[in-house]
Amino acid sequence: GLALVAGLALSGCSARGTSDSGSGSSIKKGDLIGVALPAKTSQNWVLAGAAFKKSIEDAGFKADIQYANAGNPVPDQQSQISGMITKGAKAVIIGAADGSQLGSQVKAAKAQGATVIAWDRNILNTKNVDYYVAFNNYKVGQLQANALLKGLKDKKGDGPYNVELFAGSPDDANATVFFNGAMSVLKPKIADGTIKVVSGQTTFAKVNTQGWLAQKAQSRMTDLLAQYYTGDTKIDGVLSPNDTLARAILTATKAAGKDNPVVTGQDSETASIPLIMQGTQYSTIYKNTTEEAQAAIDLVSDLSKGNKPDTKIDKTNNYNGVKTVPAIELTPVLVTKDNAVEAYKGNDTLEALAKKG
Ligand code: BGC
Repeated sequence: GLALVAGLALSGCSARGTSDSGSGSSIKKGDLIGVALPAKTSQNWVLAGAAFKKSIEDAGFKADIQYANAGNPVPDQQSQISGMITKGAKAVIIGAADGSQLGSQVKAAKAQGATVIAWDRNILNTKNVDYYVAFNNYKVGQLQANALLKGLKDKKGDGPYNVELFAGSPDDANATVFFNGAMSVLKPKIADGTIKVVSGQTTFAKVNTQGWLAQKAQSRMTDLLAQYYTGDTKIDGVLSPNDTLARAILTATKAAGKDNPVVTGQDSETASIPLIMQGTQYSTIYKNTTEEAQAAIDLVSDLSKGNKPDTKIDKTNNYNGVKTVPAIELTPVLVTKDNAVEAYKGNDTLEALAKKG
């Protein structure tokens, strides 16, 4: 008795553990798998649909893949998920349009015995998420901040540097995690004066970009330059959470006649690779969307075979407000022009772009 209790207590403490919260469902070959994706706010989401279709069919399941409409993504996605449940989906894989607006849909999915997998973005404030499959978003933020510091040092020496900060959309749970990861690196540098955020805008509430919209980032950058960077005041660097916003920020600094600042990014979008190779955008992050989709389908296959998935509990990345969701975690890669060719090996499109320069 005692040994058993001790064993249970020990396994409860381990950082790497398995979850059987998904064991209520019985997925088998041929079953329907629903994939609900957000609006196509960046290229990775465009790639995701095709990646899921292939991996689901290759694994012998049936796919129902839907994107939320950009005009009204939240109600649209809610009804898509409800539809998947009605159609009898045994697993629903969700890239949330708004991570805090899916409580009743995932509850209904669980009530029907479906496994709920949050994909790329966590689903917040509900216990009804079985698994989270994503890149480590906190790490993404740290990589971005370290790249910013390295780019600034290489270009400008020891500083101080004039920097502005941008974050993603508040309805995307990832946006805060990226920002917190980045700030874990940048805060000490702001405190010791190495980095001067000239506008003084350093909180997520001040620097977020609603809807991840390029136009919003471009106009915020334009306004910041007009208000705080008049005359000879230089803008040395900008923390940008993704490539779409990086290009918008660069458009604004160029239009204002400023020297090209060190700008970070994420997603390895095809439109940004040439900018990186030419030294206009300093860095991006590579998160292989095909692998990320495959990881979710491998998880579903594992569950269908009764195998316990190898999940990770990591509070900085996987806590959803009420639950640290057991995660399949992938590792993001920092890319600058120095390692692009190497980093994109195996991805023909990106490798060719990197080689082209
Ligand atoms: C994704 C990023 C993407 C952003 C905007 C995030 O949830 O993780 O890769 O840049 O959404 O679409």
